[in-house]
Amino acid sequence: MVKTIKNGHLYWDGCDTVALAEKYGTPLYVMSENGILARTQELHRDFLDKYDNVRVAYASKAFCTLAMCKLMEKAGLALDVVSGGELYTAIQADFPPEHIEFNGNNKSREELVMAIDYGVGRIIVDGLQELALIEAVCAELGKRTQILFRITPEIKADTHDFISTGQKDSKFGIPLNPEILFPQIEAALASEAVDLLGFHFHIGSQLADNSTHLAAAKVALHLALEVKKRYAYELRELNYGGGFGVEYVEGDVRQPYRYFLDPLMALTEAFCDEHQLTRPTIVIEPGRSIVAEAGITLHTIGSIKELPTIRTYASIDGGMTDNIRPGLYQAAYTGLVANKADSATTQVVTISGKACESTDILVKDLAVAPLAAGDLFATFTTGAYGYSMASNYNKLPIPAVVLVKDGKDQLIVKRQSYEQMLQNECLPERW
Ligand SMILES: *Cc1c(COP(=O)(O)O)cnc(C)c1O
Repeated sequence: MVKTIKNGHLYWDGCDTVALAEKYGTPLYVMSENGILARTQELHRDFLDKYDNVRVAYASKAFCTLAMCKLMEKAGLALDVVSGGELYTAIQADFPPEHIEFNGNNKSREELVMAIDYGVGRIIVDGLQELALIEAVCAELGKRTQILFRITPEIKADTHDFISTGQKDSKFGIPLNPEILFPQIEAALASEAVDLLGFHFHIGSQLADNSTHLAAAKVALHLALEVKKRYAYELRELNYGGGFGVEYVEGDVRQPYRYFLDPLMALTEAFCDEHQLTRPTIVIEPGRSIVAEAGITLHTIGSIKELPTIRTYASIDGGMTDNIRPGLYQAAYTGLVANKADSATTQVVTISGKACESTDILVKDLAVAPLAAGDLFATFTTGAYGYSMASNYNKLPIPAVVLVKDGKDQLIVKRQSYEQMLQNECLPERW
């Protein structure tokens, strides 16, 4: 168990969170290595070792650091990046470029040069314009590259609108309209620079139901069949994206991977058998589900404000700057007072951040142990899209990240200093 309680303190992967807060200060992200590995082991057991010709690429944007890239390499996963910065991080972590897949709906020329020069395994192309750019870059560098086309399967996922990406009206992917899609496929097939491997979709995030993935997979498979009929060309790879949900608060369901993957593989294999298609390599790109539950954030409670008959606000020394998800899409979280972890929760408080925004509320109306200034508050399930979305709003420094395992702690990201926040700033010379 990653989470344990001893002597009234919350322990995370064997480490006393109160001691971690004293050693490293707060706010502090704490990531459990065993928590992350439990998910990669599940992926091995229920997917990679169970089926031939499958691959898992960790969607690094969920939590992208040097140590995380290294950990994913050690865990035998490929890596999905969506920017030059993520690609640079992976390369600096010595991640093998051929196991990197490059996604994104607006890659710059510089980013494509970087990716093709490093020799990334795949570029997931978001349209004709990008294909033209890739061809130009390949010609310049004298290289070829393997690509997939990201399609918009035109299926609305059952999740918050702001994290739904597969619907018809989306900035992501190529629409299914044959007059738009097929000319792109023809251009790729005719191209000297690229080898078209197949299609990619990613339909949204934090999904608890497998029906959207299944519906989208059907769309991709029908397209693969149509490509074979039209061009006598068999696609070799389909990427079904990520989006597998996790448990943030009680009532959320975190399905095991096999709940999504077994029916997806069964559907895929049945379709290929029925239509005499060679079953393509199937790739998935989980991000959140690998890291979210392995991470917690520690904050120190400061000002406590009682508004009689309304509510009590307890402020923390961070907030939307280290976790923007509540403000961005009303994401719900839960937590506890880490230094009073086995006390009865007799008080209801609203945990608020210190940034100058009314939406900077981390958890609304949460039952907690009786709170005092100086207490340590732990928020659960912050391992994904916390650190990676952190900002310097209000000039708050980006918190440190510590990786814990079996009672041992190791700093993997230092706390940003005030000097580092200003290192790229200067005054106009003419002053
Ligand atoms: C964000 C993203 C993912 C991962 O989504 P999760 O919900 O974190 O699993 C996978 N693929 C692409 C293309 C993405 O943009």
